[in-house]
Amino acid sequence: MPERKLPYGKQWIDDEDIRAVVDVLSGDWLTTGPRVEDFESSFAACVRARHAVAVSSGTAALHCAMHAAGIGPGDEVLVPAMTFVATANAVLYCGATPVFVDVEPDTLLIDANDAAAKVSSRSKAIVAVDYAGQPCDYDVLRNIARRCSLVLIADACHALGAQHRGDPVGSIADLSAFSFHPVKHVTTGEGGMITTSNAEWAARMRAFRNHGITTDHRQRETAGSWSYEMVELGFNYRLTDMQCALGKSQLRRLPEWLDRRHEIAAQYRQGFADTAQVRPLAVRADVRHAHHLFVIRVAQRARLFAALRNAGIGVNVHYAPVYMHPYYRRRLGLAPGLCPVAEAASGQILSLPMFPRMTDDDVAFVVGTFRKLLEAAC
Ligand SMILES: *Cc1c(COP(=O)(O)O)cnc(C)c1O
Repeated sequence: MPERKLPYGKQWIDDEDIRAVVDVLSGDWLTTGPRVEDFESSFAACVRARHAVAVSSGTAALHCAMHAAGIGPGDEVLVPAMTFVATANAVLYCGATPVFVDVEPDTLLIDANDAAAKVSSRSKAIVAVDYAGQPCDYDVLRNIARRCSLVLIADACHALGAQHRGDPVGSIADLSAFSFHPVKHVTTGEGGMITTSNAEWAARMRAFRNHGITTDHRQRETAGSWSYEMVELGFNYRLTDMQCALGKSQLRRLPEWLDRRHEIAAQYRQGFADTAQVRPLAVRADVRHAHHLFVIRVAQRARLFAALRNAGIGVNVHYAPVYMHPYYRRRLGLAPGLCPVAEAASGQILSLPMFPRMTDDDVAFVVGTFRKLLEAAC
């Protein structure tokens, strides 16, 4: 048995979180009640966005964002190859086609030159994935979006609390999607949020999360009215009041948790500073990283992955290029060679444990175990 067990990410729930959820359980509204707006306005303030729309997952958030942007059949959306499948799946949900873009070798963020080269007359949007919690180069992406009339959508599921030149992620792109899965910065179990400064898009997303109906149950109750209109085909992507209460309670500790993630990242960097075999990803100038993941490049990844897992260290790989999955290869007829940088990186990357509740001792254990395994190989 390993002496301890560390996952790569983990939530942190305290008594105040539990109380917040239990309060809702004994109240009148379990879903679509006052906690939804309450969480939305706290979240909007947190990322300095005008509108925030709460939904049932980060995936639903991406689907809502693409729908609001008017993406439909025949359209193309530029998506980095190095991301979770949900980023590209949301494009398919809209009947559009994802066009995979390679990433920069040092940061694994979308390569703006490759993106510009892949714009076509069918391109409708570009998705910026703030990989590992690091903001993309939004200045360059915004220029491409403006020049080519594309909507700029941020998949900010890794990047709550990140900043680009002092601007919070969530206030920069036309639409930004967040996730509240337990491994992300704050959790609601499952959950997501979209932020935008466009009031029309926000209203469209509020209807889309509720079957395409323009008023919700509580609004009709308040107005004493039974009638409602479904104006387009939507989904049930609502987030419950229990979850919104938990999300709002979790947001209290976000600043402290971000600081802790920075400390852990610094300890990893220092722990591997004299080890040429372990290469952490680069951090861009003028950003505040949110450190959702701590990703390194390493030779002999397969051997190290197995050995670390055996030692109780929950390392992971984020990600294989999306188009390498059987479904994408089959559906879009894509083959290896499309995004060579992402493909090469996916054979070398390893995500080390990173979550605020990790102790300094946990970090030292990861570094020490890793270094011993490296020496054993020499
Ligand atoms: C977590 C994540 C999602 C999906 O979020 P869910 O809440 O799990 O649906 C999408 N994109 C990225 C980059 C993610 O990390």
